Amino acid sequence: MSATAGQVIRCKAAVAWEAGKQLVIEEVEVEPLQKMEVRLKILFTSLCPGQTPLFPRIYGHEAGGVGEGVTDLQPGDHVLPVFTGECKECRHCKSSESNMYDLLRINTDRGVMISDGKTRFSKNGQPIYHFLGTSTFSEYTVTHVGCVAKINPAAPLDKVCVLSCGISTVFVLEGLGATLNVAKPTKGSTVAIFGLGAVGLAAAEGARISGASRIIGVDLNANRFNEDYDKPVQRVNTIMLYSSSTECAGNVNAMISAFECVHDGWGVAVLVGVPNKDDAFKTHPINLLNERTLKGTFFGNYKPRNDIPSVVEKYMNKELELDKFITHQVSFSEINKAFDLMLGGQSLRCIIHMGN
Ligand code: NAD
Ligand code: ZN
Repeated sequence: MSATAGQVIRCKAAVAWEAGKQLVIEEVEVEPLQKMEVRLKILFTSLCPGQTPLFPRIYGHEAGGVGEGVTDLQPGDHVLPVFTGECKECRHCKSSESNMYDLLRINTDRGVMISDGKTRFSKNGQPIYHFLGTSTFSEYTVTHVGCVAKINPAAPLDKVCVLSCGISTVFVLEGLGATLNVAKPTKGSTVAIFGLGAVGLAAAEGARISGASRIIGVDLNANRFNEDYDKPVQRVNTIMLYSSSTECAGNVNAMISAFECVHDGWGVAVLVGVPNKDDAFKTHPINLLNERTLKGTFFGNYKPRNDIPSVVEKYMNKELELDKFITHQVSFSEINKAFDLMLGGQSLRCIIHMGN
């Protein structure tokens, strides 16, 4: 038990007060833990896109930290918070095919803890909403115990924090250490990747390791491609059809292209990017009748608490490279700079050091 168990604590957190405005570092109050909750001291967090508006709110869902000790965590345990939790009891947890847990599944609109429908953060009595059950842009956060993966304490948290969301998603997707593969490319297959941020580049790396013979990357950012076309990829005659494609852009047109560019008869397209709320996916049904498969996944169909520790081990055994995805580092006070780098298409992952 930590010395502050049962007490309100104060710490610094980056609060989003309204849409389109910079985050403000505030001193906030963090309420004592309720049933099945843990408090985490966040040491490093990184930016992964996917914010939805609900204010005031503490964003952030990709991070590494230290458990404060309740339930099955010991004080000092090294952990990665995860946005899609695992209760180990519901029908999804019991199925080997799903990670869409009833209670703790990803829900970008929920801003409260599930035990009592309240927030644990506040400022001068005003409640501040949570995000994805993790809210890692805070020195201390509260999560459900089902949203915490305990990892090897020797793993450097400033590196493996990127495995708490984006990078794990596609490594697993492409079949590295997966218990369930969503679209494992076979040796010699051809792969198209849409969106060349950290998630798309990790997908390309996974495809390369799986032995793909040809990998094409598609992006709108001129710094990330070397051939430009004036029509969607699937309409460019000189471009071949792919045995699989992965959409990592979060754009509905890229999703449609990703599906329509896979080969009839066997092609599989996997959606990973998170679309806008009002987007609708439109394609002619003949594209499906022609024996193409369309799939989507959160977290590469992974059971995070169970599987993340083994992905961390892969990094420790030098089977996975993470450093090349980490392009920038900033202190917590510079968190808005990290957003500018991400939105400007300059960074892959920017690590925010909470300690200063
Ligand atoms: P990022 O913003 O760093 O990269 C996205 C890239 O897509 C950018 O290079 C951008 O220029 C490109 N892009 C945008 N529109 C495009 C279009 N129409 N066609 C081609 N490229 C386009 O993001 P990231 O961190 O790499 O994450 C990628 C996506 O994956 C995001 O939508 C994120 O929310 C999502 N994500 C999903 C999961 C999951 O479990 N499903 C996990 C992590 C991230
Ligand atoms: Zn993420």
